[in-house]
Amino acid sequence: MKFSSLYSKFLQKKKPSDMASLDRDRPTVAVIGAGLTGLLAAQGLKKNGFNVVVFEQEASIDARPQEWTMLIHWAMPLFEKLVPAHILKDLNGALCNPHLEFTDEIESLPCYNGVTGELLFSSPTPGSRRVSRRRLRKLLTQDIDIRWNQSLTGFKKSSEGIKLEFSNGESFDAHHLLGADGTWSKVRHLLLGPEQAQPRTSGFLFATGITEFNDSEKTNAIIQAHPVAALMMGTNAVGAVGVMAAGDPSDKSTWTTFWVKIWQGNAVDLKDGEALDYIKGNTPPLRDIFQSAIDWTPEGSYVRISEMKYWIPTQWDNYGGRVTLAGDAAHPMLIYRGQGFQHSITDVASYVDALTQLHSTEESPEQIIGAYESEMIERGAKAVQQSLSEAEKSLDIEMIGQMLMAKQGHGKST
Ligand SMILES: Cc1cc2nc3c(=O)[nH]c(=O)nc-3n(C[C@H](O)[C@H](O)[C@H](O)COP(=O)(O)OP(=O)(O)OC[C@H]3O[C@@H](n4cnc5c(N)ncnc54)[C@H](O)[C@@H]3O)c2cc1C
Repeated sequence: MKFSSLYSKFLQKKKPSDMASLDRDRPTVAVIGAGLTGLLAAQGLKKNGFNVVVFEQEASIDARPQEWTMLIHWAMPLFEKLVPAHILKDLNGALCNPHLEFTDEIESLPCYNGVTGELLFSSPTPGSRRVSRRRLRKLLTQDIDIRWNQSLTGFKKSSEGIKLEFSNGESFDAHHLLGADGTWSKVRHLLLGPEQAQPRTSGFLFATGITEFNDSEKTNAIIQAHPVAALMMGTNAVGAVGVMAAGDPSDKSTWTTFWVKIWQGNAVDLKDGEALDYIKGNTPPLRDIFQSAIDWTPEGSYVRISEMKYWIPTQWDNYGGRVTLAGDAAHPMLIYRGQGFQHSITDVASYVDALTQLHSTEESPEQIIGAYESEMIERGAKAVQQSLSEAEKSLDIEMIGQMLMAKQGHGKST
């Protein structure tokens, strides 16, 4: 893409010597974090003609064992617009269960009563797909320049843009910096200071287990609740079960399933056997398959417990429109109604539009990135607050009917 003379002038405003390696006709965006937000931003920016480099503190794509499933529903059209067609065609490989005929019933999320076991409500999610975070991340690394083992420690204004600094002493010049570095964002920390940027503790604990039963009857019991995923609420805990990876479609003993449990309590950070023992001994019971899935967890399975964190976004100094945030770095929220990544997708789509707009308008980067931030901060803050309110109501059978999930389903936070 050839950028307009106006945008080139913005990039040339000051001494070009400091940024001799940067191509003014193809602006460079440094993205911090190779999570889903950073990788999606890289795909969308590259597709729109930008030079993008992603910096990730971890050593490789497989460095982190964490895995979970995510519903992508209302943000799917934006996701499809950002990802190049030759990569999007392989999306099936990231789906938890791609062997389904996607009917209205499959594209819905049932929620069962934790007291009676009856169906409380079923949330329609037309066009939605449930994906494995790990497999989606892998898919989005395709064709992207990712620099692993690069932990951002600082940045400062340079003559034409931003100079990034890393813990290994290396530096990098870019025209723009996007902080997509998650809940504990270093970029947010650098923009707002440690106290203001600190994620807040919610008091809500979240556990997930990934289970290979090697037993088609057990897998079938999960599929009977729903072939994609199902919820249970109404006691002092929330539960979920579903399919993580559908192996051989004709042999369900080869499938991987997952369970989730949420409760309010003391903050603990545990994994595997220790986490499973804690859940069995210290958290309110669920019923039916939602309890059985936990009880059947084979030894050696991946299990994690941690406290959910949140942060309500507020405005920051964006270095003249050159540094901003997206995804969990901007609005980490509790995992209710599957909103987090969908807001990340929305952020990325707006950010790509904003940077693209810089080459066809008289407006300054401060105005354009400022407008991106105003919309994103208002939308993100509302979503974070709604996730907290949903969590409070979800543990009380009298309040479940008042949840957005029950009244409005899994649509976009409004
Ligand atoms: C159990 C669970 C279920 C969920 N379900 C859904 C759902 O159904 N629908 C939905 O929309 N969302 C869901 N979410 C939310 C969604 O997963 C997150 O919003 C999304 O993954 C955030 O991605 P991210 O890239 O912004 O952050 P992250 O995945 O945290 O990525 C940030 C990256 O930045 C790197 N990094 C951090 N600091 C530095 C540094 N200084 N230098 C370099 N790199 C750095 C990290 O190593 C990491 O790789 C769920 C979340 C959980 C936990």
